[in-house]
Amino acid sequence: MIAGLEQPWRVAFEEAWASWVAGNFGIGAAVVDPADGSIVSSGRNRVAQTEREPGLLSGNMTAHAEMNAFAALDRFNAEGLHVYTTLEPCIMCISTSMLLKVAHVHFAAGDEFYEGLDDLWGGHALTRERLPAATGPFTGEHARLAAFARFLPMSFTLRHFPGRTADQRARTEHPELAALIDELLADGSIDDLRTIDTVDTALATLWPRLPR
Ligand SMILES: [Zn+2]
Repeated sequence: MIAGLEQPWRVAFEEAWASWVAGNFGIGAAVVDPADGSIVSSGRNRVAQTEREPGLLSGNMTAHAEMNAFAALDRFNAEGLHVYTTLEPCIMCISTSMLLKVAHVHFAAGDEFYEGLDDLWGGHALTRERLPAATGPFTGEHARLAAFARFLPMSFTLRHFPGRTADQRARTEHPELAALIDELLADGSIDDLRTIDTVDTALATLWPRLPR
């Protein structure tokens, strides 16, 4: 599962789980210095979280995992740094990555909602130059971890935005995940998962049911 991956992934997945347990999209991110592999900052999606904490984004759609990791930076920008995130960055987070001069984005799961976005950035000299290198999604032996990373935000979408474009696109792209989420929503067991403390236990619980 997470063991065997680089340390930033553990941080990102722990943030993602804490985000999901608290009723958010369930996405986590870490900013890393590639020179020594140290974690510079981390953040989680807090869009549905109404209590405010100083220095953190919460309670609205600016409160994405990457944005919170950026907000926690103790330096002017993220020049040369890498971002590890459990879900492919959205239009806001990749734009901010370019503004902050992030060098490389690593993502565990793809987001079909933003497919083709890179074509857009190629149309302007600044964004063409600033677009970070990208690695992802996980495949092969880590494909089920990618499914878990997609499961968390997708379950939020299917629960709270049924019938919307994001729901329809996710269902078309991930029919097996959609079936699993529908089952967990129908019998209410999705809320039992929220009582699980650690991402490792959550992964062990869901692992046999995740598509490969
Ligand atoms: Zn985002």
